[in-house]
Amino acid sequence: MNSTYRDIFKWGDKREEKVDKGTLKVVKEKLNFSDSDLAERYLTGEMEVTIEKPVGIDKTLLERFASIVGADNVKTDDYSRASYAYGKFYAELVNLRMEYIPSPPDAVISPRTTEEIIEIVKLCNEYGIAITPCGGLSSVTRGVETPKGGISLDLTAHLNKVINLNTVNATVTVQSGMFGPAFENYLNSVGFTCGHFPQSFEYSTVGGWFAAKGAGQASTGYGKIEHMVLAIKVVTPSGVIETKCFPASAQGWDLHLIFAGSEGTLGVITEITMKVRRYMPENTQYASFAFKNFESAVNAMRTVMQSGVGLPHLFRISDPEETEIAFKTKGFDGTFADWFLRIMGYKSGSRCLMFMGVDGSKAYAKQVKKSVKAICRKNGSFFIGASPTLKWLEQRYSSAYLRDPLMDIGIMTDTIETAVMWDNLVNVWNSARNYLKHRPKTVVMSHISHVYENGANLYFTFLSPMEKGNELNDYAQFHKGLVDTINASGGSLSHHHGVGRSLAPWMETQLGVYSLNLMQAIKNHLDPKGIMNPGDTLGLKP
Ligand SMILES: Cc1cc2nc3c(=O)[nH]c(=O)nc-3n(C[C@H](O)[C@H](O)[C@H](O)COP(=O)(O)OP(=O)(O)OC[C@H]3O[C@@H](n4cnc5c(N)ncnc54)[C@H](O)[C@@H]3O)c2cc1C
Repeated sequence: MNSTYRDIFKWGDKREEKVDKGTLKVVKEKLNFSDSDLAERYLTGEMEVTIEKPVGIDKTLLERFASIVGADNVKTDDYSRASYAYGKFYAELVNLRMEYIPSPPDAVISPRTTEEIIEIVKLCNEYGIAITPCGGLSSVTRGVETPKGGISLDLTAHLNKVINLNTVNATVTVQSGMFGPAFENYLNSVGFTCGHFPQSFEYSTVGGWFAAKGAGQASTGYGKIEHMVLAIKVVTPSGVIETKCFPASAQGWDLHLIFAGSEGTLGVITEITMKVRRYMPENTQYASFAFKNFESAVNAMRTVMQSGVGLPHLFRISDPEETEIAFKTKGFDGTFADWFLRIMGYKSGSRCLMFMGVDGSKAYAKQVKKSVKAICRKNGSFFIGASPTLKWLEQRYSSAYLRDPLMDIGIMTDTIETAVMWDNLVNVWNSARNYLKHRPKTVVMSHISHVYENGANLYFTFLSPMEKGNELNDYAQFHKGLVDTINASGGSLSHHHGVGRSLAPWMETQLGVYSLNLMQAIKNHLDPKGIMNPGDTLGLKP
């Protein structure tokens, strides 16, 4: 039975994953870890959870909640409250490892119907109780914290079903608390795919995808989540908003898009209608390429996106350091393939890998792959077959399990991501890397994984020894410097992780005061008492 802090912070199915041999080699070489450093276990959080802060909602009100959703669906025990206190932001994981939960929710409530949510929101609005809507709690931006206590509204326990599939329109209406695998398995069984596969796919929900404005690993072909959603139903403190489903319209603003990226600050999204695409995995074509340097790979990628040859659905470039680490951790270093690439001029330290996959009809997929190959060849690439891409696909969800064992041995491991226009991409990549690399013993792996005609995202993963005894301050300063650097060089605050509370301090600089005021005015209209995910989410005030 789960009962410790460790049970809460561990990723996914909570299994105890070990750091693989290849990664250990990198940690020894690049971070200077000795065998005794590797044997140490740091801040493992194995104590039983206890919460000191008493439940701040009085008994009579809790009974009223119970009368709405049933007593079994109102939880106030320590473990339930602790489980909903944090998401998966690096500093949150450190807090849990330190067994520190100063501000848990007062209760976790799992409604069974939209009607019950309407009643809960009404009651909370009357009594000024904070509501934090929760999906899979995989937020990496402090989006599900509860600084004002109140209730965490768990949408996953009951509101997790498909409501309607329309095969003529190719749309599906789904309850917001449905997790990725259940949703996709259902769609596959009726010949469709949702096309949205974030790395957190297995443990995140349709509602969380839309509320945090996410992007899946196949977004280059299928689009970001806000491009896939056609209509929503949302319960706000001012009333229920239900938008209608049209392929497009010109009846003023697309109101459902106000809620894309709203991160629980405007209301509880209960239903979502999404486009679905034909599921034809047998037609998918894959290809992988080696490039001599990052710039030529980026140039090839941009050319593909701008030359009208069709769209790969999966399109990625790993920069030289990420490529080097991939070679080391996957056991390619020193192999014949490695040697061959080197003598062909694809040298470690500057070479880059590109992965590509394209869905669609057989003819379309083949044609796009052929065109991509031709463009890549013109940019000096070497075609290395399908298998590197297929190998990457095999581990695309399981690599998330590496973070916990790395933190166990005292390694700060985090990611940050941004969106940039093509003409500024290499500059932002260089600026962020230079900043990260000024910290001694820091591995920085970067990739591009969501690609558009006019630009792409940049995603940085960094590993560095924790400053033991000062982990949180050290991280906060390092993270601040990184966000400042990306902002100053012209990258967006976020491409798909959202803003939450961790990036909220930059919202005014990024958007400008008038734009933020507009968001605030919408918030004030829908949530006049400021009960929805309060405490600075998105930089909004109560
Ligand atoms: C290992 C890992 C890998 C990740 N990879 C990706 C990736 O590839 N792409 C990507 O986009 N993101 C990624 N993320 C970030 C995260 O998974 C996404 O933001 C995801 O969309 C959150 O979904 P969730 O169901 O977990 O939402 P939660 O974390 O529970 O909530 C996220 C935010 O949305 C709000 N919210 C949730 N549900 C609702 C609702 N029904 N109504 C109103 N508000 C709601 C919450 O209040 C919160 O502010 C990753 C995270 C981790 C830990």
